[in-house]
Amino acid sequence: MKILKTQTLRGANYWSIRYKKLIIIRLDLEDLAERPSNEISGFYDGLVETLPSLIEHFCSPGCRGGFLMRVQEGTMMGHIVEHVALELQTLAGMPTGFGRTRETSTPGVYQVVFEYKDEQAGRYAARAAVRLCQSLVDHRQYPAEELEQDLRDLQKLAEESALGPSTEHIVAAAEKRGIPWMPLTVRSLIQLGYGIHQKRIQASLTGLSSILAVELASDKEGTKRILEDGGIPVPRGTVVYYLDELEQAIADVGGFPLVIKPLDGNHGRGITINVTSMQEAEEAYDMASLESRSRAVIIERFYVGQDHRIIVINGKVVAVAERVPAHVTGDGQSTIAELVERTNQDPLRGSGHANVLTTIELDRAAFQMLERQGYTIETVLPEGEVCYLKATANLSTGGIAIDRTDVIHPENLWIAERAAKIVGLDIAGLDVVTPDISRPMREVDGVIVEVNAAPGLRMHFSPSEGKPRDVGAAIVDMLYPSDTASRVPIVAVTGTNGKTTTNRLIAHIFKQTGKVIGYTTTDGIYIGEFLAEAGDTTGPQSAQMILQDPSVEVAVLETARGGILRSGLGFDQCDVGVVLNVAADHLGIGDIDTVEDLAHLKSVVVEATSPNGYAVLNADDPLVSAMAQRVKSQVAYFSMEPENPLVQHHISQGGLAAIYEDGYICIVKGDWCLRVMAAAEAPLTMGGKAPFMIANALAACLAAFAQGVPVEAIRVALATFQASANQTPGRMNLFDMGDFHALVDYAHNPHSYQALGSFVKNWDGECIGVIGGPGDRRDEDFITLGRLSAAIFDRVYIKEDDDPRGRPRGDAAMLIEEGIRQIQPNLDYEVILNETEAVDRALNSASKGSLVVILPESVRRAIDLISERRPLEEAIATQ
Ligand code: ATP
Ligand code: ATP
Ligand code: MG
Ligand code: MG
Repeated sequence: MKILKTQTLRGANYWSIRYKKLIIIRLDLEDLAERPSNEISGFYDGLVETLPSLIEHFCSPGCRGGFLMRVQEGTMMGHIVEHVALELQTLAGMPTGFGRTRETSTPGVYQVVFEYKDEQAGRYAARAAVRLCQSLVDHRQYPAEELEQDLRDLQKLAEESALGPSTEHIVAAAEKRGIPWMPLTVRSLIQLGYGIHQKRIQASLTGLSSILAVELASDKEGTKRILEDGGIPVPRGTVVYYLDELEQAIADVGGFPLVIKPLDGNHGRGITINVTSMQEAEEAYDMASLESRSRAVIIERFYVGQDHRIIVINGKVVAVAERVPAHVTGDGQSTIAELVERTNQDPLRGSGHANVLTTIELDRAAFQMLERQGYTIETVLPEGEVCYLKATANLSTGGIAIDRTDVIHPENLWIAERAAKIVGLDIAGLDVVTPDISRPMREVDGVIVEVNAAPGLRMHFSPSEGKPRDVGAAIVDMLYPSDTASRVPIVAVTGTNGKTTTNRLIAHIFKQTGKVIGYTTTDGIYIGEFLAEAGDTTGPQSAQMILQDPSVEVAVLETARGGILRSGLGFDQCDVGVVLNVAADHLGIGDIDTVEDLAHLKSVVVEATSPNGYAVLNADDPLVSAMAQRVKSQVAYFSMEPENPLVQHHISQGGLAAIYEDGYICIVKGDWCLRVMAAAEAPLTMGGKAPFMIANALAACLAAFAQGVPVEAIRVALATFQASANQTPGRMNLFDMGDFHALVDYAHNPHSYQALGSFVKNWDGECIGVIGGPGDRRDEDFITLGRLSAAIFDRVYIKEDDDPRGRPRGDAAMLIEEGIRQIQPNLDYEVILNETEAVDRALNSASKGSLVVILPESVRRAIDLISERRPLEEAIATQ
């Protein structure tokens, strides 16, 4: 078997709304297509031997061992690959359980879908699962060392891309409060919230952390001085720049014992504590100087006591931890080396910051420390005796933390809060050395040794002993005090046709409220009045660009099928989801083969609508109205038929709807009805002659109304929104050419041709079509285009796109001709493959009072061709 394609989903998607992080592989089973697992000898036994923990997979039988039962009875390899990929990740410490497998319309080719925790690890798991299964098929076994290597690789991938523990903790706190977040591409920045309500963090630094305060904190001497000026207890000390100043400095500070450390160091590097002789002092000086960027060294009095870390967030002490340096306790039998090894076996310990605790390394610092205590690693430590292995208490060198939040003395609280305020940090980690944190520092000769910006949070949210403290929640509460918004309203629009038009109209309506609107369309991303990026921007990345923009107050997102299919939605939920219609288009692409599949795909948008929000659904389209069954939100319907029974029932139950009644766009709810505007007065509807535009207007008004936009704003917007070539190029752009009219429209599937036909039908003169479509459509789509054109037009020019998208030249035209002949064998038509020529010929041959309808490949080029002929002005058919 082989993997044909691997995709990574990151948002709500076709397969699941809840499980956003999914890998999809398109798997060709090749020779295994006809061989279920029970027909592959030795496969079942090999699988159970390799991955005995598969017994935990319930699968469809719904009980322990259920999946293995399926393997024994016979299931297809795609399904097995799915479970193996999940199990490999689970064994590597990333518990995952959601998966789906289905055969595509190509026999033997399967879509295998499974959850991941880490993207790279997920993709790796897919390859490893296929390799493992293939080996079981070929050799009835998978070597244990291979499996071990796979698991190690998976763990490594996960570690490499994991957020740091502090970041992860803050992000989890944000999630708990329903605040969305996303990683930005640079500097490990994380964005919390959307648009104008966003806040950034970088570990425990925030957008509120003042640069002056952060720089002050990283200058230990400056910090000490400013605290001292404020009467806060700090170590007595001085700074030296040259070795020959050392002796004098020691005398000034009051002699031994001393602490010698780099002026601008961190993580305890280069520090020597409890220096008691001149010789030690010189060695310590060299070490500190090497670790210091400025070569400057602090000479300080040594204060006796335990190390504490106090974290102050937004002016309040949130947690206090006592930190104990890496140590072991003797049992009267084991050597220190053995004790260290045993301590490191604790599953909570690991390398780096990713684990709760860090392993103790027997490095130079450890040997020095042992020497000072008169030990070697071979010493057998008497029972109950503590041997310290590091001088400082950093967790990152194997220390532990004990929560002391409940015992700190109130005066110390006050001092700590004052110190953080004086330095000016929103989040400050204070290093305090004091023999007893429950007594006032000033009574027991305790001092604030240092103030840290960006303090690590691990020791507080998961202390080795004592109560965990939710410092993440305190940080999130500082950034978002209760009842402040973190989100901007999101309106997402999908459907087969009319997305861009409706989306622009919705954006135009919201603009009337004076807000900055970010919106995405098929032609680009707009922020306020400006085009921020041109291109087909209807996917998740474009949505994220809007949501990352710090000025955006409302997001209106065209959400096309391609993006949902490729990587899922780019937002976690929307406030209003609009589905305009579902009709055959792009079928056969991306394993979406039927309109039902397509409807399922588009329903993702409304299924991701928040429970307080609205799903705006087309009541005239059964595939759309049926989506009401799947949504968690409230439902609002729009309909061109005032008597539509579904709408009538909905209204009678007090529901919200928009209908087209007596020529008016109306919003109705329960027993009241609001006439927004006569449709003919909205230029978009071309004098009320384009029914499908009225439908789009209904949807747009309803979406805006549901989101609380006042009806006055909606009226102004409807009256001023035009489908002009400038505002909406390629959408029903009508030009008055003097004797005749020309219409440029981007209709490109049967459903939109029909819509266009409903407008053309209302035209009095001759109607000439210039038609064609993208070559990647199916044969039957071109035939349908021919048939529909024969019904709509009096005369037709058939042309092809410059880019044939893989079709031989003339092929599409032939299919269109075939369609025409099926309906109107006598229709006057001509094939002119070159689009420019065809357009020219049609415009040249237009009779008085006629309408030339152009469905171009390039909207720009068609409009240019028309402009060369100097149209009178863009006409809006209100006559
Ligand atoms: P980190 O980045 O881990 O905070 P650092 O390199 O910034 O470390 P300091 O915080 O200044 O260094 O010192 C590290 C530890 O050394 C302190 O937490 C404390 O235990 C001890 N220490 C530092 N100065 C003194 C002192 N004057 N008296 C007693 N102990 C001290
Ligand atoms: P795309 O998938 O290309 O982005 P879209 O869904 O954004 O298309 P629009 O660009 O708004 O749709 O409109 C494209 C064409 O579809 C219009 O020019 C018109 O011919 C037709 N159309 C617009 N609205 C509707 C509708 N409600 N029903 C059917 N056809 C429509
Ligand atoms: Mg420190
Ligand atoms: Mg569009």
